[in-house]
Amino acid sequence: LVRFDKVVKRYGDHVVLDQLDFSVERGEHVTLIGPSGSGKTTILRLLMTLEKVSDGVIRINGDPLTHMLATDGSLKPASEKHLREARKKIGMVFQQFNLFPNMKVLQNITEAPVNVLGMDRDKAEARARELLDLVGLSAKTDAHPSQLSGGQQQRVAIARALAMEPEILLLDEVTSALDPELVAGVLELLGDIARNTDITMLCVTHEMNFARDVSEKVLMFDAGRVVESGSPEKIFSDPEHERTREFLNAVL
Ligand code: ATP
Repeated sequence: LVRFDKVVKRYGDHVVLDQLDFSVERGEHVTLIGPSGSGKTTILRLLMTLEKVSDGVIRINGDPLTHMLATDGSLKPASEKHLREARKKIGMVFQQFNLFPNMKVLQNITEAPVNVLGMDRDKAEARARELLDLVGLSAKTDAHPSQLSGGQQQRVAIARALAMEPEILLLDEVTSALDPELVAGVLELLGDIARNTDITMLCVTHEMNFARDVSEKVLMFDAGRVVESGSPEKIFSDPEHERTREFLNAVL
């Protein structure tokens, strides 16, 4: 479903992703781990088309995300229209929730389906209510984000991402900004979504329990490359690379 093909991302002279190759199959739940600065967030931002690759190609379902096929068969940089279309397949949840502060909870969820997908407002609201029920927040439909706890705001952000019916859900350290007692509930919700939907998930997290409980595959990054990948059992109990062992010793 997702394929990175020799992807390079540079900021000036700083090479953040270095000829990165990896792929994710449809329906897989993949956890990205690795030291700070290893490029994990950059990968999600590239997928969300918030950044552009410096070199290489990212493909979704075989279609180049950041490039378009020209009539002569060569690849040329994608137009805004192409990027807008590509973005519809992908939902993202951020560490800091990023809800629209001036909108009520319900409108936070209906905004994109109505304005980006052109969904009928009544239908979008009905779907938003279902999603609020799923995330356990039916009682907060008319609240403003500032009236919610961090955990509740993150649940709304998850509902908002799901409202776009994405094929791929990107999760960037979604529990890092939460009070410790709220973390388990959000992880449980994400586990339910992983088990009960066919959405493909890419998740950057320091929550190794989440990696173990929800994902089938862990990718260990260092210096903009994948140093090791495998099942959580393998990576956590029998890592092959010294770099992975050092990292796990530091975080576990
Ligand atoms: P963390 O776990 O700390 O979030 P990460 O693995 O997600 O780390 P990235 O956020 O992807 O790492 O950042 C990788 C590198 O890219 C870092 O060294 C960072 O300073 C650099 N970087 C990220 N965005 C920019 C930018 N807009 N301009 C310059 N450098 C950037």
